[in-house]
Amino acid sequence: MIISGTTLAKELKQDVARRVVEAKEKYGREPHLVVILVGEDPASQSYVKGKGRDAEEVGFKSTTIRRPETITEEELLTIISDLNADDTVDGILVQLPLPRHIDEDKVIEAIAKEKDVDGFHPGNVAALWQKLPCTHPCTPEGIIKLLDKAGIQIEGKKAVVIGRSNIVGLPAAKLLLDRNATVTIAHSRTKDLPKVASEAEILVVAIGRPKFVTADMVGEGAAVIDVGVNRDPETGKLCGDVDFEAVKDKASVITPVPGGVGPMTRACLMENTLECFLRKMEK
Ligand code: NAP
Repeated sequence: MIISGTTLAKELKQDVARRVVEAKEKYGREPHLVVILVGEDPASQSYVKGKGRDAEEVGFKSTTIRRPETITEEELLTIISDLNADDTVDGILVQLPLPRHIDEDKVIEAIAKEKDVDGFHPGNVAALWQKLPCTHPCTPEGIIKLLDKAGIQIEGKKAVVIGRSNIVGLPAAKLLLDRNATVTIAHSRTKDLPKVASEAEILVVAIGRPKFVTADMVGEGAAVIDVGVNRDPETGKLCGDVDFEAVKDKASVITPVPGGVGPMTRACLMENTLECFLRKMEK
């Protein structure tokens, strides 16, 4: 079964849109999401465009602040500080990656925790690992929602997450653990990765290598979630970290690329923005 992230994201956004109408009636305005884009990277431009489109679709006010690659760290931090202080702004997102001369950690930390719709702020990360209320990072949250939608029971399952980045692999593993899966985190130094991966009942792949996961790395009937977004070196088309054609008949469920985790990430961003707005208004 191929799990369509596009369909599920649409449903999730419809639900957000419905709640936005209610929230607007109650609080007199809609949530406001501000996205900051530094530079001209085509992939970042396309991601930001998509986020803006989704924000408008669910009924948010959406602002994109574009700055050239030459912006200084100080200037960027000033923009963030002004947005933090602006009561009409509910969510702030800085599109990553940033140019090398800007310290990404510093920028992420500068965003007010309450407006951190990406869930990357150290305060949100710490709260996640302490099981305290927080904004969950969008991609890992999207993965859990996809598994739930596909009817995959997580509790008691053997889950393997390949990749241990702060924004995908680690938090995805933590969310699976919180749902009582037994989780193995694999990475570039993992010995005999095919064996480790093939024992997974739930396999989440987030490494950034086109078609890296081949059929021999997937156990019969595994649920396979492909987070990777790459260009196929042969065709130039978008592809995941999983060799979809080779793996799809072995997996019980699998996410496609494009149309799997990607749209869910954006839908979860909309949900996070609404939650930030509601938390502020309900205070
Ligand atoms: P990242 O920060 O580069 O991390 C990659 C991880 O993969 C690292 O932990 C690395 O291990 C591991 N890895 C690399 N080569 C490996 C190998 N040969 N065997 C086993 N593990 C290996 O990447 P990321 O930010 O997590 O992103 C991963 C992928 O997801 C990318 O394609 C990215 O574009 C995509 N992504 C998609 C979405 C979405 O919404 N769909 C969102 C975010 C990211 P070490 O730690 O040992 O170096």
